[in-house]
Amino acid sequence: MGEAIAFVGDDDLRKSYGDGFDLVCRGKETSIIVGNIEYVIGEGQDSTLFVRCKSLDDSMGKWVCPTVLGTKPSSTVGSDHWATVVGSDRILVILNGSLEVDGFWFLEVDTPFVKQQKQILGSDVVAWSKGVQGYAGKPIVISGPSGVGKGTLITKLMKEFPSMFGFSVSHTTRAPREMEINGIHYHFTERSVMERDIKDGKFLEFASVHGNLYGTSIEAVEMVADAGKRCILDIDVQGARAVRASSLDAIFIFVCPKSYEDLEKRLRSRGTETEEQVQKRLRNAKGELELGKSPGFFDHILVNDDLETCYKTLKNLVCLNESADNTYQSASRMKPAFPLVHSVSKVGSKIYLDSPALDIGNASHNSFVLDVGSLIGGAPGRTRGLDLYPVHQN
Ligand code: ADP
Ligand code: 5GP
Repeated sequence: MGEAIAFVGDDDLRKSYGDGFDLVCRGKETSIIVGNIEYVIGEGQDSTLFVRCKSLDDSMGKWVCPTVLGTKPSSTVGSDHWATVVGSDRILVILNGSLEVDGFWFLEVDTPFVKQQKQILGSDVVAWSKGVQGYAGKPIVISGPSGVGKGTLITKLMKEFPSMFGFSVSHTTRAPREMEINGIHYHFTERSVMERDIKDGKFLEFASVHGNLYGTSIEAVEMVADAGKRCILDIDVQGARAVRASSLDAIFIFVCPKSYEDLEKRLRSRGTETEEQVQKRLRNAKGELELGKSPGFFDHILVNDDLETCYKTLKNLVCLNESADNTYQSASRMKPAFPLVHSVSKVGSKIYLDSPALDIGNASHNSFVLDVGSLIGGAPGRTRGLDLYPVHQN
């Protein structure tokens, strides 16, 4: 016997919830209980899904609108959705009519991230996270003092393995160098804009480096993973520490020079900074080198003396780890396309989706399984590891 799945029917258009709490809904609502809280997910006037909740402990409990973090899913006008609890801390929401592209979403209601945000904000919090099929390999964080050769090593790696690695394009408030292109090397940003986005929770990490603000947006990392590639982050040691403390499971590599004099020579020969900026970067390098080499901070330390030797070591590290960890699996592997779903049922971690018969003469492909047994990640980023495959009925 499968578990019941909350279904949204053609409900009445306007609902009132206690004490004058009133929310206009276009008529598609799902009610679902997680623990002692009832959540209602509905399609709002702006076509995005809204959420309200009520404690069941208090029979007179009032409906409240929690703080909603993350990007809200948009529904196709007039379409329906299904919702079911996954684990004890999130609700899977299946948007009908958009399954192949972005039909699977998770509303996190009690995950560690949501608990943390509840404490910070002091209010009820829920967070949306988009569901993505497959996994992406662990991101690689590369840190090291300015001029040590991080960019050179990363460029070599991306050139040799263009389909395997993707670069996380950071935001920065520093001015572009002559050859730098906005959106490719950095997103060059106004400080006020970046500060607002940081406040809105759009950044995985940020730091003040050599007098400018630098940061990795959640979107920058997720976009690389969505393309089925392994993400490379070139960030300073403060940023690496912040990523270490975040939910992003990454490999941390520190690149150091053979000597301080070598570093100075390289930084000057690059010729991209004024003398004043070079002095500042060299002063900061001392602290970075100390921190980078402190035990337990980074997983691997590479000495970039001879470039080719260092590159070979880096390649071995990331490529060998890859197969050893068995973490790399292209996100773009199997993505069956199918039309509207007309019934949904759940058995354990498997959710069975049935769609109306296609007239291509192959009815066996109208049933699909969505396996949610091996999820990883989640808000503030994507939820990965969804496995969607057709059921073959012989
Ligand atoms: P980072 O990205 O760490 O700031 P870059 O990759 O821009 O550093 O390298 C700084 C300069 O040093 C560049 O001119 C680059 O060509 C040069 N460089 C990088 N690695 C080596 C190396 N192993 N030996 C000599 N020069 C190097
Ligand atoms: P540059 O100005 O030379 O491009 O970068 C200066 C420093 O900023 C480098 O150490 C680089 O690793 C770091 N950096 C670049 N992007 C980011 C980022 O998104 N976050 C953090 N914390 N540091 C960054």
